[in-house]
Amino acid sequence: MNSPAAAFGNLATRLPQEVDVVIIGGGLMGCASAYYLGKTGARVLLLEKSILAGQQSSRAWGFVRQQSRDEAEVPLMQASIGIWRALEQELQSDLGWRNDGCLFVAGNEAERDGYASWLPVARDFSVDTVMLSPREVEARLPGYAMPQLGGLFTASDGQAEPTLVARAFARRARELGVRIVEQCGARGIDVAAGQVVGVETEHGYVKAKTVVCAAGVTTFRLLKLLGIELPQQLVRGTVARTTPGPALSGISTIANGVGFRQRLDGSFNIADDAHVDVDMTLGHLRALHWYAPSLWAHRKSFRFNLNGACLNDLRQRLPWSEPARLGPGIHERAPRIMPNGKSLRAALHGLKSAFPNQAATQIADQWAGGIDVLPDGIPVIDAQTSPRGLAVATGFCGHGFAMGPIVGKTLADWIDTGNPGLDMRQLRLSRFAEGDVKPPSSLF
Ligand SMILES: Cc1cc2nc3c(=O)[nH]c(=O)nc-3n(C[C@H](O)[C@H](O)[C@H](O)COP(=O)(O)OP(=O)(O)OC[C@H]3O[C@@H](n4cnc5c(N)ncnc54)[C@H](O)[C@@H]3O)c2cc1C
Repeated sequence: MNSPAAAFGNLATRLPQEVDVVIIGGGLMGCASAYYLGKTGARVLLLEKSILAGQQSSRAWGFVRQQSRDEAEVPLMQASIGIWRALEQELQSDLGWRNDGCLFVAGNEAERDGYASWLPVARDFSVDTVMLSPREVEARLPGYAMPQLGGLFTASDGQAEPTLVARAFARRARELGVRIVEQCGARGIDVAAGQVVGVETEHGYVKAKTVVCAAGVTTFRLLKLLGIELPQQLVRGTVARTTPGPALSGISTIANGVGFRQRLDGSFNIADDAHVDVDMTLGHLRALHWYAPSLWAHRKSFRFNLNGACLNDLRQRLPWSEPARLGPGIHERAPRIMPNGKSLRAALHGLKSAFPNQAATQIADQWAGGIDVLPDGIPVIDAQTSPRGLAVATGFCGHGFAMGPIVGKTLADWIDTGNPGLDMRQLRLSRFAEGDVKPPSSLF
């Protein structure tokens, strides 16, 4: 019998009554956490309200970089690179991994000085980042036709395929015995006497003393139900995959206003490097005071739009809307996010003018993703919060794909042994309540 009721019954019986850890969110953070927690032998349940890796984690550019990161993220990213190098073997999957470096090409002096200002950080952390001369850039990007003054290059950086990675973690987690249930949202986290005791799901209650909240852009909604205010906000990034062009380079590159990386089949992921869209809604008024101080300094990075998103936001506040039906913890099952075609046409033009031999390259596919940002431009990764048993991984500000493996491993170690293995203080959840928040070097 295939009636909806029967499907519901099957789903309900698939949920265990009690596990050691419930993970909320089947993006890269949730799937990587599931894999590493599965390796510890814990009983783990991962809940995904829609499909695995349906949001940010399959929509990223695919850059895996240490370079130009906030200092708070550098040790994590160094450890992540170590994992990436052996990850295809560990997960027994093709992840599109290419360890060919990351290069930001400077088109003028201001850009060159901006990129070079990261060199002291590289030195402090012993990252292999160098400033290349124009001739060295040309050697790495043959045929580059725009004026340039050299570039910032990190040979140990790389790229991977976002559509493959989270799902590969999930596949291996399942083999380790992790229960993964799609189309089943977490409505809320249950707490008694300051300790997490379970999760209320769309299909029943599951007891657990530990919950990993990795719900991407809606994490703040689940935390709010616990009385925790997270000033998380939403911006929109657009990406395109092109038709295959002549082989250029495996380097994840930003040049001439375009971010691009080329796959082995010759196709590129391209995007406007400098802008994201902010589709204004009433929701953007929330936590505005956190962003106001840095909005002016970063204003050139944002395109503020008054468009259909505003109307949609108003519709979602009506009592018969999807969010009202699903509840605040789930909100919307699978938001439709439209790509910005104009920004992609500009990116394609930027690519072709920089590399005239790519003149026949066309856009083959395009998409957009909702990026979760925090006011200091760095994520929350914390497994030592209040209430006890709550772990949070969110707010990756458009650069969490590269960190996914180490985030999963760190949370698993932390939950298993009480020790994250790295200094995580700067990424703690309580920094917002404490007001200990520094200005962002970049908001996405
Ligand atoms: C356009 C774009 C380009 C990017 N480029 C890069 C890049 O080149 N390099 C890089 O390092 N990073 C990049 N990023 C950032 C990176 O993709 C993200 O930081 C990362 O994927 C975040 O993973 P996540 O698991 O936290 O979130 P998500 O992938 O968004 O996953 C969260 C999941 O939680 C689920 N969920 C939410 N609420 C509930 C609930 N109540 N119950 C159950 N499930 C729930 C959602 O359905 C979703 O599947 C980019 C992002 C975008 C959008």
